[in-house]
Amino acid sequence: MKGTAVSPGIAIGKVFLLKKIEVESLQKNSDDPQKELAILETALKKSALELEKLIQASGEKLGETDAGIFQAHLMILQDDEFVQTVRDHIQAEKLCAAYAVVKTAEDFYIQFMQIEDEYIRERAADVKDVGMRVIKSILGTGTGLEAMPDGSVIVAQELSPSDTASMDSQKVCGIITESGGRTSHAAIIARNLGIPAIVGAGGITEQVETGTFIVFNGESGEIFIQPDGELVKKYIEMKAVKEKHKKLLMQFKDKKTFTHDNHQVELYANIASQNDTSAALENGAQGVGLFRTEFLYMNRDNEPSEEEQFVIYKKVLSDMKSKPVIIRTLDIGGDKNVPYLGLEKEDNPFLGFRAIRICLEKKEMFKKQLRAILRASIFGRARIMFPMISCLEELMTAKEIISECMQELDKRSIEYDRSIQIGIMIEVPSAAVISDILAKECDFFSIGTNDLIQYTTAVDRMNPKIAELYNQYNPAVLRLIKTVIENGHKEKIDVGMCGEAAGDEIMAYLLLGLGLDEFSMSPPCILNIRRLFSLADMNEAVNDAQTVLTMKDAREIKKFLEERNKKISER
Ligand code: PEP
Ligand code: MG
Repeated sequence: MKGTAVSPGIAIGKVFLLKKIEVESLQKNSDDPQKELAILETALKKSALELEKLIQASGEKLGETDAGIFQAHLMILQDDEFVQTVRDHIQAEKLCAAYAVVKTAEDFYIQFMQIEDEYIRERAADVKDVGMRVIKSILGTGTGLEAMPDGSVIVAQELSPSDTASMDSQKVCGIITESGGRTSHAAIIARNLGIPAIVGAGGITEQVETGTFIVFNGESGEIFIQPDGELVKKYIEMKAVKEKHKKLLMQFKDKKTFTHDNHQVELYANIASQNDTSAALENGAQGVGLFRTEFLYMNRDNEPSEEEQFVIYKKVLSDMKSKPVIIRTLDIGGDKNVPYLGLEKEDNPFLGFRAIRICLEKKEMFKKQLRAILRASIFGRARIMFPMISCLEELMTAKEIISECMQELDKRSIEYDRSIQIGIMIEVPSAAVISDILAKECDFFSIGTNDLIQYTTAVDRMNPKIAELYNQYNPAVLRLIKTVIENGHKEKIDVGMCGEAAGDEIMAYLLLGLGLDEFSMSPPCILNIRRLFSLADMNEAVNDAQTVLTMKDAREIKKFLEERNKKISER
């Protein structure tokens, strides 16, 4: 069977089936609401205490991303609306405490799931998780994970972040769940802990029981229940090869990035929150090439204040210890919605009111973010980057707004980095075409291939039906990338890339040959690319890039680069 691979690696072990609490078997009514209210208060207190402990332990054991999850849980647990709704159910409908919690958590869950935004939908699981924690506390049952033996593959309908954090990660060699997506917390935590994981394996809890022998591949999503000896042998070998490769990569962690013939480039990390800096540093990032700040604006009821943002940017800059951090200003719209901004529904949101277009119109909101970045800039090496620039006027207006912010800070005698670098994303074809003009007005470019591919080829990046047409090897895309790099270099500015292509080993070699200076990618890709580059020769890469640019067809290009990659990796 197959699921969605969300955390790479091979798992070989015995199933530990995590049982759900049977909500249907809970007692529904009570004729003593006062007693139920008292039970609820005790359970709430106990759950809050557990969460506080988990927040503390997460900081030490799991990494700060997880502490953030439990902080969010604590907020739900202490949310007046949530708690009052439970109390109302107990008093008005004479429900038992546990049943009232189930009902409230379910109602909140349904409300969250109706929101279009995938990120918010996935947070719906948090409400359920908090509910389950309170119910377990009321019933006096644990998570069940306490009894788990060594070498277990956890199989569950859904694995809550609380479950993941209360398990002894040393005993877990893999995780499979029936629900959840790539950005669900269980997936994030599994990736952080380096545990192979698959989600979306519908029906698996019906097909196995505790003790069933199982093998799975966290890269392909393949699951084998009670496989034969031949297959197990093959997977044991694959696992050994992967572990050897992982160890090999660790030697590159604290190194700079050089090709075999000493050409130097920079490998940066893409991050989406202040908690991601640890993953960036652990994976040897030389800086942050893209801080997607829109996530600070999502999943809440109002925009973050200047002060709130200042604290976050300051933390990221300090954590990155004077390494460059490119902070991208708000890139909302398209598929990322922020309900409180009251943006109208559009027929073509990706071609509509998004990113810099919104910021230039909602000037006060934009200025809040810019002032926060400027104020934080003295705590490290901040750079400001504007997304979705499509013409010179947008860049010039955005720069004027930065000047206004600087004057305001001067008036308040607040320090900031006066020579802060200002750059733009090149992700719209018009910007790539006039990159010679734009390069004169900014300090750096970062090519956003995720959007550049979709806009150049008129292929929606989210539409699975036309996924084959969304192709990074399309010669039109490659020509634009070449133009941007050349135009940037003519004006002596650095040209980087923060689209997914930068972390793809087949593409990264081509980009190296095209002269890209900085590659920004998801942290787990960094060491692999550093190793690959250490084996590559810049002269050869330049020649290969020239050859590729004479090719007419994406398939031919891909094949050629794959063969080159194979040869170089074997050196
Ligand atoms: C891009 O478009 O390549 C990019 C990095 O931005 P995002 O994926 O956030 O749109
Ligand atoms: Mg983009």
